[in-house]
Amino acid sequence: MSRLVVVSNRVPLPDENGNPPPGGLAVAVHAALRKNGGIWMGWSGRSTGEEEPQGLTTLEQDKISYVLTDLSQADLDEYYNGFANRVLWPIFHCRLDLAEYARQEMAGYFRVNRLFADRLVPMLEPDDVIWVHDYHLIPLAQELRKRGVRNRIGFFLHIPWPPADILTALPVYEIIMRGLAAYDLVGFQTDYDLDNFVGCLRREGWGDWSTPGWLRAFDKEVAAAAFPIGIETGDFARLAAKTDGLDLVTDMQQSLHGSSLIIGVDRLDYSKGIAARIDAFERYLMRNPDQAGKVTLLQVAPHSRSDVPEYLEMQGQVESHCGRVNGAHGTIEWVPIRYVNQSLTRPVLAGLYRLAKVGLVTPLRDGMNLVAKEYVASQDPADPGVLILSRFAGAARELDGAIFINPYDTEQTAGAIGRALSMPLDERIARWRRMMDHLESHDVLWWCRTFLAALNEAPEDNGALT
Ligand code: UDP
Repeated sequence: MSRLVVVSNRVPLPDENGNPPPGGLAVAVHAALRKNGGIWMGWSGRSTGEEEPQGLTTLEQDKISYVLTDLSQADLDEYYNGFANRVLWPIFHCRLDLAEYARQEMAGYFRVNRLFADRLVPMLEPDDVIWVHDYHLIPLAQELRKRGVRNRIGFFLHIPWPPADILTALPVYEIIMRGLAAYDLVGFQTDYDLDNFVGCLRREGWGDWSTPGWLRAFDKEVAAAAFPIGIETGDFARLAAKTDGLDLVTDMQQSLHGSSLIIGVDRLDYSKGIAARIDAFERYLMRNPDQAGKVTLLQVAPHSRSDVPEYLEMQGQVESHCGRVNGAHGTIEWVPIRYVNQSLTRPVLAGLYRLAKVGLVTPLRDGMNLVAKEYVASQDPADPGVLILSRFAGAARELDGAIFINPYDTEQTAGAIGRALSMPLDERIARWRRMMDHLESHDVLWWCRTFLAALNEAPEDNGALT
C-alpha cells in the first residue's frame, strides 16, 4: 500500500499522548496517514529572522513523520503575510479592493514553494501519494515535477475559486493557473468553484472538459471535482449533548435570564461579514422594539492575522459597530451584543451552539464555513435551533434546511432573524433533520476517503511538464 505524504502551510501536531489536535481536518488526515504510514510536512511556525532556514525538524509518532521547516523573516513577509494573505486570499474571496500586489512578494511565494520542494524530494519514495493543501502551495506540484517527481500529486483548495473577471486582475494569473494544472487531481469545495476554475481556463483558451471529471489544460489531463469538506459530525453531536456540566455554558445560560441566544462564531476576517451582521441585528431590534431585553447576540471572534493592515482596520470597524449598537439599544440590565475575541474550545463551542436558538452565519464569501455545519450537528434533535446562512458560503450548496440570506441585504437578514426566532417546532425539526442526515453521511472522514480514492484512480504524472 502507498504511503501518504501531506503538505500544508501549517502542520497540526499531536499532543504528548499522540492524540491528533482538535479540528476535523487534522483528525481525518491523521487517520489517513496512520493507515499506511506517511509524512506531514509544513512550516514549523518559527522564523529564523535574517538567517537562512536550517535543516528540518522531524517528529516521529504512530507511523507518521511530522517534518517541519523554519522560514526566514523575509520568507514570512513575502510568502505568507504578503502574497498568500494579501493577494491570493482577498482575490480568491472577490475582494480586489483589498489586494496589495507586489512583484517581490510573488517572488518570495515561489521561493518558499521551491524550498518546500527541495526539502520534500529526498524523503519521497516511488509509490508515495502526495496531497497538497491550499493556496499557500499552488506551485508545489510544478516544482516537484521539475525535480523529476513522477508520483501522483493531488491538490485541495480550502478557499473559493473566483470567477475569471476577478482572477484575471491578478497579474500572475497564468502562472497560478499553470501551477494548478500541474496536479493529477484538483479538488474544490463546491461545484461553483469548479465551474469558476473551468471558466478561467476557457476564457483564455487554455483548456476545457475532455471527458466528465477530466480537464484537458495546458496540454495535459487533470482530474477535477468538488469535494465539500465535512466535520466530525458525530463528535460534535456527542460533545453538545453532554456539555451541561461545562461552567462556561452554564454561566452563559444563567446570565441570559430566559432571553433567546443568537450565536455568531468567526475568525476575525473581512470575508466573514461581521460588521454587516451586526447592522442586520440592529435592524432587527429597531423593527421589533418589543424584543428589547429578550434576545442576545453572542459574537465570538478570535483575532486573526493581526499583522496584516487590512485586518486591523476591519477589527476597529467591528468594535465600533458593536459599541454603537450596545450604546444605542442596551440598558443597565441588558447588553444586546456580547462580543468576545477569546478563542473557545470545541466542547464549549458545541455547548453554546446548542444553547443558541439561531446560528447566524453570514460571510460575504467563504470556501465552506465549518461553523455552519458544527452549529447544525450540535442541536438538540427534540428542539433544534435554526441556521441562517449566507448564500455565499460553500456550505449553502449542501445545507438546504437553512434560511438563506444575501449578507449585503441588511433588511433580508433582519427579517430572517425574526423568522428564525418564531419558527414553529415541527418546521425546525424538519429542516434540521434534512441537514443532519447530510452531515452524518458526508462527514470529514468521508471527505478524506473520497478525495484519496479519486487521487488513487488518477494515472500517475500523466502529461507534459508545464
Ligand atoms: N473555532 C474554534 N474556536 C473559536 C472559534 C472558531 O475552535 O473560538 C473553530 C470552529 O469550530 C471551526 C473553525 O474554527 O472549526 C473555523 O472554521 P470555518 O470554516 O468556519 O472558518 P475559517 O476560519 O476556516 O475561515
